[in-house]
Amino acid sequence: MECPKCSNAMESRTFKEVTVDRCTGCRGLFCAPDTIEKMKGMWMTEAVIDMGDATVGKEYNKIDDIQCPECQVAMDKISDPEQPHIWLEACPQCSKVFLDAGEFTDIKFNTVFDRYRDWRKGKRA
Ligand SMILES: [Zn+2]
Ligand SMILES: [Zn+2]
Repeated sequence: MECPKCSNAMESRTFKEVTVDRCTGCRGLFCAPDTIEKMKGMWMTEAVIDMGDATVGKEYNKIDDIQCPECQVAMDKISDPEQPHIWLEACPQCSKVFLDAGEFTDIKFNTVFDRYRDWRKGKRA
């Protein structure tokens, strides 16, 4: 699988019971929304899984017209109403999400990130 943002290879990383695909270049993460939920409750996931440079992640966050690396369909932009500064890409087909480096850490520490379905779709302001 190729990273939709920087075209480097995505590698599968397993930590305890969760598995994510992580880009070997920009360190973006690709996983199912419930995996994010699981990782939020797990100790040290932000250090082990989201070990990319948030500054680099911010640069890649500007690239927002990407395709799902699995389904090759355009991904939707979604944002958390609680944390409107965080924008993720979600696949309308497999519903997996792409997080830039540093975004998971942001989510884990700053949010309630309550219900995925409450998220709104839209254009980045
Ligand atoms: Zn990448
Ligand atoms: Zn997909």
